[in-house]
Amino acid sequence: MEMVKAQCEIVPRHSGTPGAEKTAEWIRDIASSMHNVKVRIDSFSDDTPAGKMTFRNVIAEFPGKGKPIIIGAHYDAKKLTLTPDFQAANDGGSGVAVLLSVMKTVASQKKPFPFPIHFIFFDGEECQIDYSGNDGLHGSKKAAKDYTGKARAMILADMVGDDDWNISIPENCSPELKKIVLQAAAELNLSDSVKQGSMQVLDDHLPFFEAGIPAVNLIDFDYGPGNAYWHTGEDKLDKINPESLGKTADLILKILAIMEKTSF
Ligand SMILES: [Zn+2]
Repeated sequence: MEMVKAQCEIVPRHSGTPGAEKTAEWIRDIASSMHNVKVRIDSFSDDTPAGKMTFRNVIAEFPGKGKPIIIGAHYDAKKLTLTPDFQAANDGGSGVAVLLSVMKTVASQKKPFPFPIHFIFFDGEECQIDYSGNDGLHGSKKAAKDYTGKARAMILADMVGDDDWNISIPENCSPELKKIVLQAAAELNLSDSVKQGSMQVLDDHLPFFEAGIPAVNLIDFDYGPGNAYWHTGEDKLDKINPESLGKTADLILKILAIMEKTSF
């Protein structure tokens, strides 16, 4: 919760703002303070409908053997012109907080996971106008290109912090990973809240999925009545439930444990 709150205090933080850069540095500093991890900011420029823009992915790597498992979340907020103090507590803030908390557990394990785990905090997920070739998913597209042929799997967390925690795995995810997510949920007694969905979701897992890297999105795309809080000023700290953040972190750690057991 503290890590969601800290992000909500950096407004605005949509891509290209000083707030976005400050958020990247805030993530880097927290990640760098952990044990056994190598952290860097990957800056790059990309075309957008508003011209060339600088984006920054934050990448935190835990060592291990073989290809890494990537765990991702986006930290940029949607640009809401009419809500300059937009907090993006859930759509942005929650995923980042969950990843940092999973990182803390991974960093403090007595027996580390055998495979490398790379946590990537994406910039530029949100589009300026409409998702299209040069609008949105900038950070994940860049990373998917860099990791093509070089990653074991990709797990994304997005919008995971509201009271009514229900993960609906999008249709456009890899079947072998969906199976592991459902098994992890069953082992945690969370099967009632983690389901296979039928919706196609455009999100940061997609560039990886399309690059042939097994990818899955842990998303609760039902935020407020009829998703009414999504991309509005209502997406703020008071909507976030720490238990939901905790369940998501537990789910990711269980997925990693199953991957270790089954040598995924
Ligand atoms: Zn969004």
